[in-house]
Amino acid sequence: MNTVETSKAKLSHNEVIKEAVPTLAGSIAATLADPNADRFSDDDQQFIKFHGIYQQDDRDLRKTGKKYIVMVRGRIPGGVMSSAQWCVFDDLADQYGNKTLRITTRQSIQFHGVVLAGLGPLVKRINDSLLSTLAACGDVNRNVLAPPTPAYTRAREEVFADCVRVADALAPKTHAYHSIWVEGVQLDLNDPANKDFVDPLYGKTYLPRKFKTAFVIPPLNDLDVLTNDLGLIAVVEGDRLVGYNLAVGGGMGRSHGNEATYPRMADVVGFFTPDRLIAVAEAVLKVHRDFGDRADRKHARLKYVVQERGVEWTRAQIEERAGFKLEPARPFVFTKQGDLYGWHRQVDGRWFLGLWVESGRVKDNGQGRMKAALRKIAERFPVEFRLTANQNVLVANVTEADRPAVATILAEHGVKTENQATALQGASMACPSMPTCGLGLAESERYLPGLLTRLEAVCSEVGLGGEEIIIRMTGCPNGCARPYAAELGFVGKAPGRYQIWLGGNEASTRVNRLWKDNVKDPDIVTELRPVLARYASDRQPGERFGDWSARVLWNEAGAVAV
Ligand code: SF4
Repeated sequence: MNTVETSKAKLSHNEVIKEAVPTLAGSIAATLADPNADRFSDDDQQFIKFHGIYQQDDRDLRKTGKKYIVMVRGRIPGGVMSSAQWCVFDDLADQYGNKTLRITTRQSIQFHGVVLAGLGPLVKRINDSLLSTLAACGDVNRNVLAPPTPAYTRAREEVFADCVRVADALAPKTHAYHSIWVEGVQLDLNDPANKDFVDPLYGKTYLPRKFKTAFVIPPLNDLDVLTNDLGLIAVVEGDRLVGYNLAVGGGMGRSHGNEATYPRMADVVGFFTPDRLIAVAEAVLKVHRDFGDRADRKHARLKYVVQERGVEWTRAQIEERAGFKLEPARPFVFTKQGDLYGWHRQVDGRWFLGLWVESGRVKDNGQGRMKAALRKIAERFPVEFRLTANQNVLVANVTEADRPAVATILAEHGVKTENQATALQGASMACPSMPTCGLGLAESERYLPGLLTRLEAVCSEVGLGGEEIIIRMTGCPNGCARPYAAELGFVGKAPGRYQIWLGGNEASTRVNRLWKDNVKDPDIVTELRPVLARYASDRQPGERFGDWSARVLWNEAGAVAV
């Protein structure tokens, strides 16, 4: 008997409304058409997530009354955008958002601060540009990740094509999205195809919770593939893709004070050839669909199914649904996470430029006028913009002839292409949290830059100046910036208070551990100073901070295994 059957009597409210409205249309179109509406109903707030939209309110303004806004997230498989698409997103941020483009940890772009009146035109224009927002959020497969670097190897092209194939195969098939956002009309429920709609893959109730998929090409692990529900690790021979090692059951999210929730790295369960990709992807998704916890959304991810039922059981379920046996996993090694910054030559002779984007926020009042510079490049050159899972952007396919002009535009706008970031900045990530995310318990994106400055000063004092430590911060335990895969992770507990997690590794194959709970802002540096000093003096040659933390601190009182 599976979890769905055992928990039918106590299904979460989300399950009830999905069953009642499997088209996911709700009354979204009616709200959009109402000139007096400033927000969606409570149930529609759940449905709009499947359409890539979160209803929020500006938390900085709460004292003077709630101002409802929405966040809109693009669905951009592999994070690849043309110059024309970049221009559209840039326009939309100015017209309907807060004049910034927020690159996400899933190779997408979010618009923050959108009011209801602008929502319809914004989503329509994204679709007109041949991108979408469908399934960027919600209980479905989310934006599919693919390696952004190195640009243009043959295997990378094959993997990117597979990324798009999987994104399409796992997309929900409801007509509501097209009807509401592209045609601008209410879904016709008199049409039997809509009235009796059941998604052919997801059924009526979709998944118990979100589902994340990522492709990676070792040895780079530039998107933390093992933190995904479904990880597809390319096996490449002579620059040709021969298949994938399958990893299942990764995930970052947890809840404070709830020991049934925890971050987890995926298990590698076998190998298969590319022709079986869709069958395998659907099979893994169906295991989540059929066995995920539909009573407790905090415990509803595939990782808990894999952890609680075991790897052998999970593999058997996947094989049963895929209709074939997986082969033994092929050997592979991950060496590092992170992005390449600066200019690099592509295999085809052209160039790509890796740009560090502080907290993923492309704007004009930070690292020079980056937003204006990228817009100008997009207008003048047929390049590609590749969003990375570390919230950065690569400007790819720059010809030898165009490279000086691209460099000049960036220089004129005060955007550095060399020595763009300090060692700590370049390896850091923060989630948005305040003021837009309704789940944020503490500051993140607005807080991390100042903390990094203070930590850099300490690192210099103790002899670690210029050394990289992978640092990630989130405003709540959901872990959008994957703090549990960092060497040093900060997780918001309450305003001005953070948990400190230590011991992730450079290759992003290990979950870190809670070291200190509920540390107040001024005490963070005080707590870390002696640890960094000790690391500087005690480490073995070449030993990174995360590895030293795991070797030394995990065996001492204070480090809690999760
Ligand atoms: Fe919001 Fe939490 Fe995600 Fe940060 S980690 S963006 S606070 S849900």
